[in-house]
Amino acid sequence: MHHRYDVVVVGAGGAGLMAALYAAKGNVSVACVSKLYPTRSHTGAAQGGIGASLGNVGEDHWEWHMFDTIKGGDYLTDQDAAEVFAKDIVDAVIELEHMGLPFSREADGTIAQRKFGGHTREFGKAAVERACYAKDRTGHMILQTLYQQNVKNGTTFYNEFHVFDLLIEDGRCTGVVAYDLATGELHTFHAKAVILAAGGYGRVFKITSNAFTLTGDLMSIYYRKGLPLEDMEFYQFHPTGLSKLGILVTEGIRGEGGILRNVNEERFMERYAPTIKDLAPRDIVARSMITEIREGRGVGPDKDAIYIDLTHLPRETVEGKLAEITDLARTYLGLDPLKDMVLVQPTAHYAMGGIPTDIDGQCLSDGAGGKIEGLYAAGEQACVSLHGANRLGTNSLGDLVVFGRRAGISAAKYARQADYGRLAEDPEAETRALLEGLRSNRGKDNPADIRKVLQETMMNNVGIFRNGPDMEKQVEIIKELKERYKNVGVADVSAKFNGDLIDAVELGFLLDCAEAMTASAVNRTESRGAHEREDYTTRDDKNWLKHTMAYKDLNNDGNVLIGYKPVALKGYTRAFEPKARVY
Ligand SMILES: Cc1cc2nc3c(=O)[nH]c(=O)nc-3n(C[C@H](O)[C@H](O)[C@H](O)COP(=O)(O)OP(=O)(O)OC[C@H]3O[C@@H](n4cnc5c(N)ncnc54)[C@H](O)[C@@H]3O)c2cc1C
Repeated sequence: MHHRYDVVVVGAGGAGLMAALYAAKGNVSVACVSKLYPTRSHTGAAQGGIGASLGNVGEDHWEWHMFDTIKGGDYLTDQDAAEVFAKDIVDAVIELEHMGLPFSREADGTIAQRKFGGHTREFGKAAVERACYAKDRTGHMILQTLYQQNVKNGTTFYNEFHVFDLLIEDGRCTGVVAYDLATGELHTFHAKAVILAAGGYGRVFKITSNAFTLTGDLMSIYYRKGLPLEDMEFYQFHPTGLSKLGILVTEGIRGEGGILRNVNEERFMERYAPTIKDLAPRDIVARSMITEIREGRGVGPDKDAIYIDLTHLPRETVEGKLAEITDLARTYLGLDPLKDMVLVQPTAHYAMGGIPTDIDGQCLSDGAGGKIEGLYAAGEQACVSLHGANRLGTNSLGDLVVFGRRAGISAAKYARQADYGRLAEDPEAETRALLEGLRSNRGKDNPADIRKVLQETMMNNVGIFRNGPDMEKQVEIIKELKERYKNVGVADVSAKFNGDLIDAVELGFLLDCAEAMTASAVNRTESRGAHEREDYTTRDDKNWLKHTMAYKDLNNDGNVLIGYKPVALKGYTRAFEPKARVY
Protein backbone atom coordinates (compact mmCIF):
# COMPACT_ATOMS: atom_id res chain seq x y z
CA MET A 1 0.00 0.00 0.00
CA HIS A 2 1.30 3.47 -0.84
CA HIS A 3 0.82 6.71 1.09
CA ARG A 4 1.98 10.24 0.38
CA TYR A 5 2.72 12.90 2.99
CA ASP A 6 4.86 16.01 2.83
CA VAL A 7 6.60 15.01 6.06
CA VAL A 8 6.80 11.55 7.65
CA VAL A 9 8.02 11.24 11.23
CA VAL A 10 9.29 7.89 12.50
CA GLY A 11 8.67 7.50 16.24
CA ALA A 12 6.15 9.04 18.62
CA GLY A 13 8.20 9.65 21.76
CA GLY A 14 8.91 13.19 22.96
CA ALA A 15 11.20 13.92 19.99
CA GLY A 16 8.88 12.47 17.33
CA LEU A 17 5.79 14.18 18.70
CA MET A 18 7.50 17.56 19.00
CA ALA A 19 8.87 17.22 15.45
CA ALA A 20 5.47 16.15 14.08
CA LEU A 21 3.73 19.03 15.85
CA TYR A 22 6.07 21.65 14.44
CA ALA A 23 5.93 20.15 10.97
CA ALA A 24 2.11 20.18 11.16
CA LYS A 25 2.16 23.80 12.27
CA GLY A 26 4.27 24.54 9.18
CA ASN A 27 1.37 24.00 6.78
CA VAL A 28 2.34 20.62 5.40
CA SER A 29 0.68 17.20 5.63
CA VAL A 30 2.27 15.04 8.35
CA ALA A 31 2.18 11.35 9.19
CA CYS A 32 3.70 9.92 12.36
CA VAL A 33 4.62 6.23 12.01
CA SER A 34 5.31 4.45 15.30
CA LYS A 35 5.82 0.87 16.37
CA LEU A 36 4.19 1.71 19.71
CA TYR A 37 1.01 3.52 20.49
CA PRO A 38 2.44 7.06 21.01
CA THR A 39 1.83 7.45 24.74
CA ARG A 40 3.53 4.10 25.42
CA SER A 41 6.89 5.42 24.21
CA HIS A 42 9.81 5.32 26.63
CA THR A 43 9.70 9.09 27.17
CA GLY A 44 6.73 8.29 29.42
CA ALA A 45 9.09 6.58 31.90
CA ALA A 46 11.11 9.74 32.59
CA GLN A 47 10.47 10.96 36.10
CA GLY A 48 13.18 13.40 37.17
CA GLY A 49 12.45 16.47 35.13
CA ILE A 50 13.44 18.76 32.28
CA GLY A 51 16.22 21.29 32.90
CA ALA A 52 15.76 24.97 31.93
CA SER A 53 17.28 28.11 33.48
CA LEU A 54 13.97 29.73 34.37
CA GLY A 55 15.38 30.95 37.67
CA ASN A 56 12.09 30.46 39.51
CA VAL A 57 13.80 29.34 42.72
CA GLY A 58 17.35 30.71 42.58
CA GLU A 59 19.15 32.98 40.10
CA ASP A 60 19.98 31.14 36.88
CA HIS A 61 21.18 31.95 33.34
CA TRP A 62 21.22 30.03 30.07
CA GLU A 63 24.97 30.50 29.90
CA TRP A 64 25.42 28.60 33.16
CA HIS A 65 23.29 25.78 31.75
CA MET A 66 25.32 25.79 28.53
CA PHE A 67 28.55 25.52 30.50
CA ASP A 68 27.28 22.68 32.74
CA THR A 69 26.20 20.75 29.66
CA ILE A 70 29.63 21.12 28.05
CA LYS A 71 31.48 20.23 31.24
CA GLY A 72 29.17 17.26 31.86
CA GLY A 73 29.89 16.11 28.30
CA ASP A 74 33.61 16.15 29.18
CA TYR A 75 34.20 18.80 26.47
CA LEU A 76 33.12 16.55 23.62
CA THR A 77 29.83 18.44 23.44
CA ASP A 78 29.40 20.58 20.33
CA GLN A 79 29.24 24.04 21.84
CA ASP A 80 26.99 25.53 19.14
CA ALA A 81 24.41 22.84 19.97
CA ALA A 82 24.77 23.52 23.70
CA GLU A 83 24.22 27.24 23.14
CA VAL A 84 21.09 26.79 21.03
CA PHE A 85 19.83 24.24 23.53
CA ALA A 86 20.36 26.28 26.70
CA LYS A 87 18.67 29.33 25.12
CA ASP A 88 15.79 27.53 23.37
CA ILE A 89 14.82 25.26 26.26
CA VAL A 90 13.65 28.22 28.33
CA ASP A 91 11.00 29.16 25.74
CA ALA A 92 10.21 25.53 25.01
CA VAL A 93 9.31 24.80 28.65
CA ILE A 94 7.07 27.89 28.83
CA GLU A 95 5.49 26.75 25.59
CA LEU A 96 4.79 23.28 27.04
CA GLU A 97 3.17 25.03 29.99
CA HIS A 98 0.97 27.02 27.60
CA MET A 99 0.01 23.83 25.79
CA GLY A 100 -1.40 22.63 29.09
CA LEU A 101 1.38 20.52 30.62
CA PRO A 102 0.50 20.28 34.34
CA PHE A 103 3.86 21.24 35.89
CA SER A 104 4.24 21.16 39.66
CA ARG A 105 4.21 24.71 41.10
CA GLU A 106 6.15 26.94 43.47
CA ALA A 107 4.14 28.83 46.09
CA ASP A 108 4.05 31.92 43.83
CA GLY A 109 2.47 29.91 41.01
CA THR A 110 5.56 29.62 38.78
CA ILE A 111 6.81 26.25 37.49
CA ALA A 112 8.47 24.30 40.33
CA GLN A 113 12.20 23.59 39.98
CA ARG A 114 14.53 21.25 41.88
CA LYS A 115 18.21 20.42 41.99
CA PHE A 116 19.74 17.69 39.84
CA GLY A 117 23.28 16.33 39.50
CA GLY A 118 25.73 18.53 37.59
CA HIS A 119 23.47 21.60 37.28
CA THR A 120 25.18 24.57 38.90
CA ARG A 121 25.16 28.31 39.31
CA GLU A 122 28.08 30.53 38.34
CA PHE A 123 30.00 27.90 36.42
CA GLY A 124 30.26 25.26 39.08
CA LYS A 125 30.05 27.25 42.32
CA ALA A 126 26.95 25.63 43.82
CA ALA A 127 23.96 23.51 42.88
CA VAL A 128 21.01 25.31 41.28
CA GLU A 129 17.31 24.44 41.01
CA ARG A 130 16.92 23.94 37.27
CA ALA A 131 14.84 20.77 36.80
CA CYS A 132 11.19 21.59 36.00
CA TYR A 133 8.93 18.70 36.86
CA ALA A 134 5.40 17.40 37.02
CA LYS A 135 5.67 15.33 40.23
CA ASP A 136 7.54 12.16 39.24
CA ARG A 137 5.67 11.90 35.95
CA THR A 138 7.37 14.57 33.82
CA GLY A 139 7.90 12.39 30.73
CA HIS A 140 4.40 10.99 30.95
CA MET A 141 2.95 14.49 30.96
CA ILE A 142 5.12 15.58 28.03
CA LEU A 143 3.84 12.68 25.95
CA GLN A 144 0.19 13.27 26.82
CA THR A 145 0.44 17.00 26.11
CA LEU A 146 2.23 16.62 22.80
CA TYR A 147 -0.04 13.83 21.62
CA GLN A 148 -3.13 15.96 22.23
CA GLN A 149 -1.56 18.88 20.40
CA ASN A 150 -0.76 16.69 17.41
CA VAL A 151 -4.32 15.40 17.22
CA LYS A 152 -5.50 19.02 17.34
CA ASN A 153 -3.11 20.05 14.56
CA GLY A 154 -4.07 17.23 12.19
CA THR A 155 -1.10 14.83 12.34
CA THR A 156 -2.12 11.38 11.02
CA PHE A 157 -0.91 8.49 13.17
CA TYR A 158 0.06 5.01 12.00
CA ASN A 159 0.47 3.05 15.22
CA GLU A 160 2.09 -0.39 15.54
CA PHE A 161 3.76 0.18 12.19
CA HIS A 162 7.42 -0.89 12.27
CA VAL A 163 9.70 1.01 9.92
CA PHE A 164 12.13 -1.47 8.42
CA ASP A 165 13.68 0.57 5.62
CA LEU A 166 14.63 4.08 4.70
CA LEU A 167 14.40 5.08 1.04
CA ILE A 168 17.38 7.13 -0.11
CA GLU A 169 17.93 7.83 -3.81
CA ASP A 170 20.88 9.88 -5.04
CA GLY A 171 21.59 11.48 -1.68
CA ARG A 172 17.95 12.39 -1.06
CA CYS A 173 15.50 10.71 1.28
CA THR A 174 12.18 9.92 -0.40
CA GLY A 175 10.33 7.97 2.29
CA VAL A 176 10.20 4.86 4.46
CA VAL A 177 8.86 1.30 4.29
CA ALA A 178 6.87 0.05 7.28
CA TYR A 179 5.44 -3.29 8.38
CA ASP A 180 1.93 -3.25 9.82
CA LEU A 181 1.93 -5.54 12.84
CA ALA A 182 -1.83 -6.17 12.69
CA THR A 183 -1.90 -7.44 9.12
CA GLY A 184 1.69 -8.26 8.18
CA GLU A 185 1.41 -5.97 5.14
CA LEU A 186 4.11 -3.62 3.93
CA HIS A 187 3.39 0.08 3.41
CA THR A 188 5.47 2.59 1.48
CA PHE A 189 5.33 6.15 2.78
CA HIS A 190 6.42 8.47 0.00
CA ALA A 191 7.56 11.76 1.54
CA LYS A 192 9.27 15.00 0.69
CA ALA A 193 11.01 14.96 4.05
CA VAL A 194 11.50 12.31 6.74
CA ILE A 195 12.31 12.86 10.43
CA LEU A 196 13.79 9.97 12.41
CA ALA A 197 13.01 9.90 16.14
CA ALA A 198 13.06 6.23 17.08
CA GLY A 199 14.79 6.37 20.49
CA GLY A 200 17.74 4.52 22.04
CA TYR A 201 19.13 0.98 22.04
CA GLY A 202 19.64 0.01 25.68
CA ARG A 203 18.51 -3.54 24.86
CA VAL A 204 21.99 -4.25 23.54
CA PHE A 205 22.91 -4.77 27.23
CA LYS A 206 21.69 -7.41 29.67
CA ILE A 207 20.77 -5.03 32.48
CA THR A 208 19.04 -1.90 31.21
CA SER A 209 16.48 0.67 32.27
CA ASN A 210 15.26 0.82 28.68
CA ALA A 211 11.98 -0.66 27.45
CA PHE A 212 12.00 -3.89 25.43
CA THR A 213 11.34 -1.95 22.26
CA LEU A 214 14.53 0.14 22.39
CA THR A 215 16.52 -1.79 19.82
CA GLY A 216 18.22 0.95 17.78
CA ASP A 217 16.17 0.21 14.64
CA LEU A 218 16.74 3.40 12.71
CA MET A 219 20.38 3.74 13.76
CA SER A 220 20.99 0.32 12.27
CA ILE A 221 18.99 1.06 9.11
CA TYR A 222 21.01 4.26 8.63
CA TYR A 223 24.28 2.42 9.21
CA ARG A 224 23.33 -0.34 6.77
CA LYS A 225 23.22 2.30 4.03
CA GLY A 226 26.92 2.99 4.59
CA LEU A 227 26.12 6.16 6.54
CA PRO A 228 27.94 7.02 9.77
CA LEU A 229 26.95 6.64 13.42
CA GLU A 230 28.58 9.20 15.70
CA ASP A 231 30.19 8.65 19.13
CA MET A 232 28.68 5.21 19.65
CA GLU A 233 31.31 4.40 22.30
CA PHE A 234 29.64 6.76 24.76
CA TYR A 235 26.91 4.97 26.70
CA GLN A 236 25.73 6.04 30.13
CA PHE A 237 25.08 3.60 32.98
CA HIS A 238 22.83 4.64 35.84
CA PRO A 239 24.13 3.31 39.17
CA THR A 240 20.86 1.98 40.48
CA GLY A 241 18.62 -0.41 38.60
CA LEU A 242 16.68 -3.15 40.38
CA SER A 243 18.84 -6.28 40.46
CA LYS A 244 18.49 -8.57 37.39
CA LEU A 245 15.70 -6.39 35.96
CA GLY A 246 17.44 -3.06 35.44
CA ILE A 247 14.26 -1.10 36.23
CA LEU A 248 15.39 2.39 37.18
CA VAL A 249 15.62 3.31 40.84
CA THR A 250 15.58 7.09 40.84
CA GLU A 251 18.57 9.13 42.02
CA GLY A 252 16.11 10.61 44.54
CA ILE A 253 16.46 7.46 46.65
CA ARG A 254 20.00 8.52 47.59
CA GLY A 255 18.95 12.15 47.80
CA GLU A 256 16.45 11.14 50.48
CA GLY A 257 19.13 9.36 52.49
CA GLY A 258 19.38 5.84 51.00
CA ILE A 259 22.81 4.26 51.59
CA LEU A 260 24.71 1.84 49.36
CA ARG A 261 26.24 -1.11 51.24
CA ASN A 262 28.37 -4.12 50.28
CA VAL A 263 28.22 -7.70 51.56
CA ASN A 264 29.81 -6.62 54.86
CA GLU A 265 27.10 -3.97 55.14
CA GLU A 266 29.87 -1.40 54.85
CA ARG A 267 28.99 2.07 53.51
CA PHE A 268 31.68 1.74 50.87
CA MET A 269 31.07 5.11 49.15
CA GLU A 270 32.90 6.65 52.12
CA ARG A 271 36.09 5.21 50.64
CA TYR A 272 35.50 6.39 47.05
CA ALA A 273 33.97 9.84 47.63
CA PRO A 274 34.63 10.78 51.27
CA THR A 275 32.80 14.11 51.10
CA ILE A 276 29.63 13.51 49.11
CA LYS A 277 29.57 9.72 49.53
CA ASP A 278 26.42 8.19 48.03
CA LEU A 279 25.59 11.43 46.23
CA ALA A 280 28.68 11.39 44.00
CA PRO A 281 28.01 11.71 40.22
CA ARG A 282 26.39 8.76 38.43
CA ASP A 283 29.55 7.46 36.78
CA ILE A 284 31.61 7.50 39.98
CA VAL A 285 28.94 5.65 41.95
CA ALA A 286 28.47 3.07 39.18
CA ARG A 287 32.21 2.42 38.93
CA SER A 288 32.57 2.13 42.70
CA MET A 289 29.76 -0.42 42.81
CA ILE A 290 31.36 -2.51 40.06
CA THR A 291 34.72 -2.36 41.85
CA GLU A 292 33.09 -3.70 45.03
CA ILE A 293 31.46 -6.52 43.05
CA ARG A 294 34.68 -7.38 41.22
CA GLU A 295 36.61 -7.53 44.49
CA GLY A 296 34.14 -10.06 45.86
CA ARG A 297 32.01 -7.81 48.02
CA GLY A 298 28.84 -8.09 45.93
CA VAL A 299 25.55 -9.39 47.31
CA GLY A 300 22.69 -11.56 46.09
CA PRO A 301 22.71 -15.14 44.79
CA ASP A 302 25.28 -14.34 42.07
CA LYS A 303 27.19 -11.82 44.20
CA ASP A 304 26.66 -9.29 41.39
CA ALA A 305 24.49 -6.72 43.17
CA ILE A 306 24.79 -4.10 45.93
CA TYR A 307 22.40 -3.23 48.72
CA ILE A 308 20.55 0.05 48.93
CA ASP A 309 19.53 0.55 52.52
CA LEU A 310 16.42 2.56 53.40
CA THR A 311 15.65 0.78 56.65
CA HIS A 312 16.76 3.77 58.76
CA LEU A 313 14.40 6.19 56.96
CA PRO A 314 10.99 7.12 58.35
CA ARG A 315 7.95 5.31 56.97
CA GLU A 316 6.57 8.61 55.55
CA THR A 317 9.66 8.99 53.33
CA VAL A 318 9.77 5.39 52.15
CA GLU A 319 6.07 5.11 51.43
CA GLY A 320 5.61 8.77 50.51
CA LYS A 321 8.39 10.37 48.53
CA LEU A 322 9.77 7.00 47.44
CA ALA A 323 6.41 5.33 46.97
CA GLU A 324 6.97 4.21 43.43
CA ILE A 325 10.28 2.48 43.98
CA THR A 326 9.03 0.94 47.22
CA ASP A 327 6.17 -0.51 45.25
CA LEU A 328 8.50 -1.87 42.55
CA ALA A 329 10.79 -3.52 45.12
CA ARG A 330 7.83 -5.17 46.81
CA THR A 331 6.30 -6.34 43.53
CA TYR A 332 9.36 -7.46 41.60
CA LEU A 333 11.88 -8.50 44.27
CA GLY A 334 9.52 -9.43 47.11
CA LEU A 335 11.51 -7.11 49.40
CA ASP A 336 10.04 -4.53 51.75
CA PRO A 337 12.33 -1.47 51.87
CA LEU A 338 11.02 -0.63 55.35
CA LYS A 339 12.81 -3.67 56.78
CA ASP A 340 14.87 -5.27 53.97
CA MET A 341 17.81 -3.86 52.06
CA VAL A 342 17.03 -3.79 48.33
CA LEU A 343 19.33 -5.29 45.68
CA VAL A 344 20.49 -2.94 42.93
CA GLN A 345 22.94 -3.07 40.02
CA PRO A 346 24.24 -0.45 37.57
CA THR A 347 21.89 -0.38 34.59
CA ALA A 348 22.47 0.68 30.97
CA HIS A 349 20.54 3.88 30.58
CA TYR A 350 21.27 6.33 27.79
CA ALA A 351 23.00 6.50 24.39
CA MET A 352 24.96 9.70 23.87
CA GLY A 353 25.80 8.70 20.27
CA GLY A 354 23.64 8.01 17.24
CA ILE A 355 22.68 9.42 13.85
CA PRO A 356 24.73 12.60 13.33
CA THR A 357 22.85 15.82 12.64
CA ASP A 358 23.52 19.55 12.39
CA ILE A 359 21.81 21.96 14.79
CA ASP A 360 18.76 22.15 12.51
CA GLY A 361 18.31 18.39 12.70
CA GLN A 362 19.52 17.56 9.19
CA CYS A 363 21.33 14.21 8.95
CA LEU A 364 25.03 14.19 8.13
CA SER A 365 26.51 11.75 5.65
CA ASP A 366 30.14 12.18 6.74
CA GLY A 367 32.41 14.09 9.10
CA ALA A 368 33.12 16.89 6.62
CA GLY A 369 29.71 18.56 6.47
CA GLY A 370 28.03 16.29 3.87
CA LYS A 371 24.23 16.14 4.35
CA ILE A 372 21.33 14.05 3.16
CA GLU A 373 18.63 16.07 1.50
CA GLY A 374 15.20 15.75 3.07
CA LEU A 375 16.36 13.67 6.06
CA TYR A 376 16.29 14.86 9.68
CA ALA A 377 16.71 13.22 13.09
CA ALA A 378 16.13 14.11 16.74
CA GLY A 379 15.97 12.61 20.23
CA GLU A 380 18.01 9.84 21.80
CA GLN A 381 18.61 8.12 18.46
CA ALA A 382 20.21 11.28 17.05
CA CYS A 383 23.56 12.84 17.90
CA VAL A 384 23.61 16.60 17.47
CA SER A 385 26.24 16.18 20.04
CA LEU A 386 24.63 18.04 22.87
CA HIS A 387 25.65 15.45 25.47
CA GLY A 388 29.20 14.83 24.27
CA ALA A 389 30.80 12.03 26.28
CA ASN A 390 28.21 12.03 29.09
CA ARG A 391 24.71 13.42 29.56
CA LEU A 392 23.49 15.42 32.53
CA GLY A 393 20.22 14.31 34.12
CA THR A 394 17.17 16.25 32.75
CA ASN A 395 19.01 17.21 29.55
CA SER A 396 17.47 14.46 27.45
CA LEU A 397 13.89 15.65 27.82
CA GLY A 398 15.19 19.12 26.95
CA ASP A 399 17.01 17.73 23.91
CA LEU A 400 13.76 16.12 22.65
CA VAL A 401 11.74 19.30 22.71
CA VAL A 402 14.45 21.69 21.49
CA PHE A 403 15.85 19.59 18.67
CA GLY A 404 12.54 17.86 17.89
CA ARG A 405 11.09 21.31 17.30
CA ARG A 406 14.02 22.42 15.15
CA ALA A 407 13.85 19.25 13.05
CA GLY A 408 10.09 19.72 12.55
CA ILE A 409 10.52 23.33 11.46
CA SER A 410 13.40 22.49 9.09
CA ALA A 411 11.57 19.54 7.52
CA ALA A 412 8.39 21.55 6.91
CA LYS A 413 10.40 24.39 5.40
CA TYR A 414 12.16 21.99 3.07
CA ALA A 415 8.92 20.18 2.16
CA ARG A 416 7.13 23.42 1.29
CA GLN A 417 9.52 24.11 -1.58
CA ALA A 418 10.45 20.55 -2.64
CA ASP A 419 8.78 18.07 -5.03
CA TYR A 420 8.31 14.42 -4.19
CA GLY A 421 11.54 12.65 -5.08
CA ARG A 422 11.68 9.63 -7.36
CA LEU A 423 10.92 6.27 -5.76
CA ALA A 424 12.64 3.09 -6.85
CA GLU A 425 10.50 0.81 -8.99
CA ASP A 426 9.91 -1.61 -6.15
CA PRO A 427 10.70 0.31 -2.92
CA GLU A 428 9.63 -2.60 -0.73
CA ALA A 429 11.95 -5.14 -2.38
CA GLU A 430 14.66 -5.06 0.28
CA THR A 431 12.25 -5.28 3.19
CA ARG A 432 10.37 -8.14 1.56
CA ALA A 433 13.67 -9.98 1.04
CA LEU A 434 14.65 -9.43 4.69
CA LEU A 435 11.35 -10.77 6.02
CA GLU A 436 11.14 -13.66 3.60
CA GLY A 437 14.70 -14.61 4.46
CA LEU A 438 13.84 -14.83 8.16
CA ARG A 439 10.60 -16.70 7.52
CA SER A 440 12.13 -19.29 5.23
CA ASN A 441 15.30 -20.01 7.21
CA ARG A 442 15.21 -23.44 8.73
CA GLY A 443 18.29 -23.04 10.92
CA LYS A 444 18.00 -24.39 14.45
CA ASP A 445 19.37 -21.26 16.13
CA ASN A 446 16.74 -19.03 17.57
CA PRO A 447 16.91 -15.24 18.05
CA ALA A 448 16.42 -15.43 21.83
CA ASP A 449 19.62 -17.48 22.31
CA ILE A 450 21.70 -15.13 20.18
CA ARG A 451 20.26 -12.07 21.91
CA LYS A 452 21.08 -13.53 25.32
CA VAL A 453 24.73 -14.06 24.41
CA LEU A 454 24.94 -10.60 22.85
CA GLN A 455 23.48 -8.87 25.91
CA GLU A 456 25.64 -10.77 28.41
CA THR A 457 28.88 -10.30 26.52
CA MET A 458 28.23 -6.61 25.81
CA MET A 459 27.63 -6.09 29.52
CA ASN A 460 30.91 -7.83 30.44
CA ASN A 461 33.17 -6.64 27.63
CA VAL A 462 31.92 -3.17 26.64
CA GLY A 463 30.19 -2.16 29.89
CA ILE A 464 31.22 0.23 32.63
CA PHE A 465 34.92 -0.68 32.65
CA ARG A 466 36.56 -1.40 29.33
CA ASN A 467 39.92 -2.64 28.10
CA GLY A 468 41.46 -3.47 24.73
CA PRO A 469 41.67 -7.29 24.99
CA ASP A 470 38.07 -7.72 26.20
CA MET A 471 36.72 -5.41 23.52
CA GLU A 472 38.77 -7.15 20.81
CA LYS A 473 37.23 -10.38 22.02
CA GLN A 474 33.80 -8.79 21.74
CA VAL A 475 34.46 -7.78 18.12
CA GLU A 476 34.97 -11.50 17.35
CA ILE A 477 31.94 -12.55 19.39
CA ILE A 478 29.72 -10.13 17.43
CA LYS A 479 31.10 -11.48 14.14
CA GLU A 480 30.21 -15.02 15.22
CA LEU A 481 26.75 -13.96 16.37
CA LYS A 482 26.17 -12.27 13.01
CA GLU A 483 27.09 -15.51 11.27
CA ARG A 484 24.64 -17.40 13.45
CA TYR A 485 22.00 -14.74 12.82
CA LYS A 486 22.15 -15.42 9.09
CA ASN A 487 20.59 -18.81 9.79
CA VAL A 488 18.04 -18.05 12.48
CA GLY A 489 14.61 -19.47 11.90
CA VAL A 490 11.34 -17.88 12.93
CA ALA A 491 8.96 -20.57 14.13
CA ASP A 492 5.78 -18.53 13.77
CA VAL A 493 4.86 -18.02 10.10
CA SER A 494 1.53 -16.29 10.62
CA ALA A 495 0.89 -12.93 8.98
CA LYS A 496 -0.95 -11.23 11.83
CA PHE A 497 0.69 -10.01 15.05
CA ASN A 498 3.84 -11.99 14.41
CA GLY A 499 5.93 -11.01 17.43
CA ASP A 500 8.56 -13.67 16.67
CA LEU A 501 9.29 -12.10 13.34
CA ILE A 502 9.62 -8.63 14.87
CA ASP A 503 11.99 -10.01 17.54
CA ALA A 504 14.18 -11.52 14.86
CA VAL A 505 14.35 -8.30 12.82
CA GLU A 506 15.10 -6.26 15.95
CA LEU A 507 17.93 -8.62 16.88
CA GLY A 508 19.55 -7.77 13.54
CA PHE A 509 19.33 -4.08 14.48
CA LEU A 510 20.90 -4.71 17.90
CA LEU A 511 23.79 -6.63 16.35
CA ASP A 512 24.60 -3.64 14.11
CA CYS A 513 24.47 -1.18 17.01
CA ALA A 514 26.73 -3.46 19.07
CA GLU A 515 29.17 -3.74 16.17
CA ALA A 516 29.43 0.04 15.71
CA MET A 517 29.66 0.62 19.45
CA THR A 518 32.40 -1.94 20.07
CA ALA A 519 34.51 -0.85 17.09
CA SER A 520 34.26 2.81 18.17
CA ALA A 521 35.14 1.93 21.78
CA VAL A 522 38.21 -0.17 20.87
CA ASN A 523 39.43 2.61 18.65
CA ARG A 524 39.25 5.41 21.25
CA THR A 525 42.41 4.93 23.31
CA GLU A 526 41.61 7.31 26.16
CA SER A 527 39.10 7.61 29.03
CA ARG A 528 36.52 10.36 28.66
CA GLY A 529 33.07 10.78 30.16
CA ALA A 530 31.25 7.47 30.18
CA HIS A 531 34.01 5.74 28.20
CA GLU A 532 36.28 4.43 30.98
CA ARG A 533 39.26 2.34 29.88
CA GLU A 534 41.46 0.40 32.28
CA ASP A 535 44.33 0.42 29.77
CA TYR A 536 44.12 4.14 28.88
CA THR A 537 43.08 5.77 32.10
CA THR A 538 43.55 9.43 31.24
CA ARG A 539 41.78 11.89 29.00
CA ASP A 540 43.81 12.86 25.96
CA ASP A 541 42.59 16.15 24.49
CA LYS A 542 45.58 16.39 22.19
CA ASN A 543 44.62 13.34 20.18
CA TRP A 544 40.99 12.68 21.04
CA LEU A 545 39.06 15.93 21.19
CA LYS A 546 37.09 14.73 18.16
CA HIS A 547 33.93 12.81 17.39
CA THR A 548 34.06 9.23 16.13
CA MET A 549 32.16 8.43 12.92
CA ALA A 550 31.66 4.66 12.48
CA TYR A 551 30.72 3.33 9.02
CA LYS A 552 29.79 -0.19 8.08
CA ASP A 553 32.22 -1.48 5.49
CA LEU A 554 29.76 -2.39 2.75
CA ASN A 555 32.40 -4.43 0.93
CA ASN A 556 33.40 -6.48 3.93
CA ASP A 557 30.56 -7.29 6.33
CA GLY A 558 31.62 -7.23 9.95
CA ASN A 559 34.34 -4.69 9.30
CA VAL A 560 33.85 -1.13 10.58
CA LEU A 561 35.53 1.93 9.07
CA ILE A 562 36.29 4.76 11.47
CA GLY A 563 36.38 8.45 10.58
CA TYR A 564 36.23 11.63 12.66
CA LYS A 565 34.45 14.96 12.94
CA PRO A 566 35.82 18.03 14.71
CA VAL A 567 34.18 19.24 17.93
CA ALA A 568 32.43 22.62 17.48
CA LEU A 569 34.00 24.95 20.04
CA LYS A 570 32.70 28.29 21.25
CA GLY A 571 35.13 29.46 23.84
CA TYR A 572 34.60 27.01 26.69
CA THR A 573 37.70 25.04 27.50
CA ARG A 574 38.87 23.24 30.57
CA ALA A 575 41.00 26.29 31.40
CA PHE A 576 37.81 28.28 31.86
CA GLU A 577 36.45 26.04 34.61
CA PRO A 578 37.74 27.64 37.81
CA LYS A 579 36.89 31.18 36.75
CA ALA A 580 33.54 32.65 37.60
CA ARG A 581 31.95 35.27 35.41
CA VAL A 582 30.02 38.19 36.84
CA TYR A 583 26.61 39.12 35.43
C1 LIG B 1 13.46 4.86 32.99
C2 LIG B 1 13.99 6.11 32.36
C3 LIG B 1 13.93 7.32 33.03
C4 LIG B 1 14.41 8.50 32.43
N1 LIG B 1 14.33 9.69 33.11
C5 LIG B 1 14.72 10.85 32.50
C6 LIG B 1 14.54 12.14 33.12
O1 LIG B 1 14.00 12.25 34.21
N2 LIG B 1 14.97 13.24 32.46
C7 LIG B 1 15.55 13.18 31.23
O2 LIG B 1 15.91 14.21 30.68
N3 LIG B 1 15.72 11.97 30.61
C8 LIG B 1 15.31 10.82 31.21
N4 LIG B 1 15.48 9.61 30.55
C9 LIG B 1 15.95 9.60 29.17
C10 LIG B 1 14.84 10.04 28.24
O3 LIG B 1 13.60 9.69 28.79
C11 LIG B 1 14.95 9.40 26.86
O4 LIG B 1 16.24 9.60 26.36
C12 LIG B 1 13.95 10.03 25.90
O5 LIG B 1 12.66 9.97 26.43
C13 LIG B 1 13.97 9.40 24.51
O6 LIG B 1 12.94 10.01 23.76
P1 LIG B 1 12.79 9.73 22.20
O7 LIG B 1 11.64 10.55 21.73
O8 LIG B 1 14.10 9.93 21.54
O9 LIG B 1 12.46 8.18 22.12
P2 LIG B 1 11.34 7.28 22.84
O10 LIG B 1 10.51 8.01 23.80
O11 LIG B 1 12.02 6.05 23.28
O12 LIG B 1 10.39 6.92 21.62
C14 LIG B 1 10.84 6.14 20.54
C15 LIG B 1 9.73 6.06 19.53
O13 LIG B 1 10.21 5.45 18.35
C16 LIG B 1 9.30 4.48 17.90
N5 LIG B 1 10.06 3.48 17.14
C17 LIG B 1 11.21 2.85 17.47
N6 LIG B 1 11.59 2.03 16.47
C18 LIG B 1 10.68 2.16 15.49
C19 LIG B 1 10.50 1.57 14.22
N7 LIG B 1 11.37 0.67 13.73
N8 LIG B 1 9.41 1.93 13.48
C20 LIG B 1 8.50 2.82 13.96
N9 LIG B 1 8.63 3.40 15.16
C21 LIG B 1 9.70 3.08 15.90
C22 LIG B 1 8.62 3.96 19.14
O14 LIG B 1 7.35 3.46 18.83
C23 LIG B 1 8.54 5.22 20.00
O15 LIG B 1 7.36 5.92 19.71
C24 LIG B 1 14.99 8.44 31.14
C25 LIG B 1 15.04 7.22 30.46
C26 LIG B 1 14.56 6.06 31.06
C27 LIG B 1 14.67 4.77 30.30
